[in-house]
Amino acid sequence: MPDSLLNVDIWSSLTGAADRLPHALLFAGQPGVGKRELADALAARLLCETSLQAGQPACGRCPSCMMFASGQHPDFRRLQPDASAESEEEAPVAEEGKRKASKQIRIGQIREVEDFFHVGGHRGGARVCIIDPAEAMNAITANALLKILEEPSVSLYFIMISHRWHRLLPTLLSRSRRVMFGHPAEEQAKRWLAERKLAEHAKWLPFFGHAPLEVADAAKSGRLKALDALVADLFKPADPLAQAARWEALIKADASPGMEDLVLTVQKWLFDLSRLAVGMPARYFPQAALPRQAHKLSLPALLQAQRQIGQLRAWAGHPLNPRLFLEDLCLRAFKPLKT
Ligand SMILES: [Zn+2]
Repeated sequence: MPDSLLNVDIWSSLTGAADRLPHALLFAGQPGVGKRELADALAARLLCETSLQAGQPACGRCPSCMMFASGQHPDFRRLQPDASAESEEEAPVAEEGKRKASKQIRIGQIREVEDFFHVGGHRGGARVCIIDPAEAMNAITANALLKILEEPSVSLYFIMISHRWHRLLPTLLSRSRRVMFGHPAEEQAKRWLAERKLAEHAKWLPFFGHAPLEVADAAKSGRLKALDALVADLFKPADPLAQAARWEALIKADASPGMEDLVLTVQKWLFDLSRLAVGMPARYFPQAALPRQAHKLSLPALLQAQRQIGQLRAWAGHPLNPRLFLEDLCLRAFKPLKT
């Protein structure tokens, strides 16, 4: 297991000696809070051939752990959407009509798992299948999985991961034990980032809904650097037209935040300003970085700007003229600062 897990309480409850693990687990919660990381650690522990104490992670040294780490364990399967697959004539559970073929787990994939489970374990221990994300199963695929769950063998475990669990079939929900992942405590999230040499980015946790893995992803992709530049501009806004020109250049740069990201960031910034205007603490940005005069800003002007930018957001994906779009955005966003 790499460093410390984000969700220590969940880990303890699932690996406690007194608690027998159900055959179907559903890890539900927002993206970026450590569901996949914990599912992997739990799968490794279930497969590990060393006898472990309650709460102890997989040993990391036995043959089973070695095979798991190399992605070659014969008693482990990971079901993910097959991006190379063509669309099947099945409507997804929740998005009927809006078919996204490459995002589905195909019936053939479940059938392979079924065969795998009927053959019996190769190493005589547990057999584990992670389904990620569970909402990628359509009704037919999910029903095939339910059939497997109807005749569970003692050592068979499914761990489903989902941040859209309300889209899953009710029968599937009722057959699995749901484990809710909230966002980790601030201290834990900071420690997790520090262990990955990302401590300096902890200030972005509120902006990313306190999801440390989202912060880590954004840091790796270079997006945080672009966001940093964007936020620096927000805190010292230039003339709106000059600002629009700067942001146009920013968007064209590598690892740019993208127009939609940019609009969303401006929306969060205005949201924080209006919280400060009514004496509430900021939600997304470090309070110290927000304008000191924020409490004197006009709330109606801030709300109006938020409304207007909310309308602009609908166009952010495909503005006809990016520069004009940004000029419009900046004129509206910075207007409350002038009143
Ligand atoms: Zn082991």
